[in-house]
Amino acid sequence: MNILILGGGGREHALAWAIRQNPKCDRLIVAPGNAGIAEIARCASLDINSRSEVLAFAEEHAIDFVVVGPEAPLAAGVSDALREAGFLVFGPSQAAAQLEASKAFTKEICDACGAPTAAWARFADAVAARDYIAAQGAPIVVKADGLAAGKGVTVAETLADAEEAINLIFRGEFGDTSVVIEEFMAGEEASFFVLCDGTDCLPIGTAQDHKRVGEGDTGPNTGGMGAYSPAPVLTEALQDQVMAQIIRPTVAEMARRGTPFQGVLYAGLMIEGGRARLVEYNVRFGDPECQVLMLRLGAQVLDLLLACAEGRLSDTRVNWAGDHALTVVMAAKGYPGAYEKGSVIKGLGGIPEGSFQMVFHAGTAEKDGQVTAAGGRVLACTARGTTLAEAHQRAYALVDQIDWPEGFCRRDIGWRAL
Ligand code: ATP
Repeated sequence: MNILILGGGGREHALAWAIRQNPKCDRLIVAPGNAGIAEIARCASLDINSRSEVLAFAEEHAIDFVVVGPEAPLAAGVSDALREAGFLVFGPSQAAAQLEASKAFTKEICDACGAPTAAWARFADAVAARDYIAAQGAPIVVKADGLAAGKGVTVAETLADAEEAINLIFRGEFGDTSVVIEEFMAGEEASFFVLCDGTDCLPIGTAQDHKRVGEGDTGPNTGGMGAYSPAPVLTEALQDQVMAQIIRPTVAEMARRGTPFQGVLYAGLMIEGGRARLVEYNVRFGDPECQVLMLRLGAQVLDLLLACAEGRLSDTRVNWAGDHALTVVMAAKGYPGAYEKGSVIKGLGGIPEGSFQMVFHAGTAEKDGQVTAAGGRVLACTARGTTLAEAHQRAYALVDQIDWPEGFCRRDIGWRAL
């Protein structure tokens, strides 16, 4: 079959790498792709957030299956346009993508189906929001309602910090001016990935990531500096609790509303005292969590995504490898602040890659036969092992083979679980 993947980060390189290995994949096109993806697929330049452009491209290239990587095309309704035209698509509709695009929407769904999450309130007015936090006290969490690329959330230690966050939101810093205020949840965070076909659900792995740029989880937030899978904190018993109390009720509520969820539901969870509560949903794979999940799942990923898109999850099983994977992100110095583009990355050619280790590309480009840095997060050095310690050692062995003085990484990915 002819397959089109939308996106061009480390997540899409990992998806492309896994899908490419499945004999069902005859032709693979990734838009826009990157230098690493170009080695295994055709890259096409395309505005992936434009419904009409993606549709025209899929028609022109006789695409049989479209896999949507990032959230922006989902929020823009690209999957709806493709489905209406008869294409098979992996990724939720615009209406179901609200589970990521609006925090208040997710909270309403949780209330409607009884899923455990932090107590919350929403305000369209700054005075009422300030009165509410004064009554609740600190610590408290202040969130801009819409998509803000990870920058719209303040975990406020003091009331002054919470007020400052409210002021920023009502100054229009994040687009729309509506605020969600939540009870602070203590605990350990972990991510749970579940394929949903509108009715049935199939868990495909757990992971933990490192959002902060600095070692010891310090410094500003990033898109993610590393991840590992599985997440030891998400025991089988907890996974069962999350399926029964959070995931299945959410999927049932979405179906009841006439907006069934089809795609991957990525639940951000807070675990404390043997109980998990929902922090947030994302409606696509995480980056870099996708890299560790894909390395562990391999070629079966295409069968799983097809079963999801075709509504066949009830009789689909995952073939578990039962091992561990860890990925270390290499970023351009300065990231997540200002950084330079265009530096040359050497040493990639000599690295043996395969089902046990892969250097996935994120922001890379090819120039005069050399790989250059073209973004903030640039590479994801990913490896598997029978233990997490072995995966960790192999991933850092990959990092150490890369000659890129303009890049950096955290040396402590996985510390909590190790
Ligand atoms: P954005 O919408 O700006 O892209 P996001 O979707 O990443 O942000 P969340 O996942 O809701 O936003 O919050 C980001 C982080 O803030 C979480 O990973 C968690 O560490 C922390 N956080 C969010 N809500 C709570 C809460 N109620 N209690 C404790 N910590 C929280």
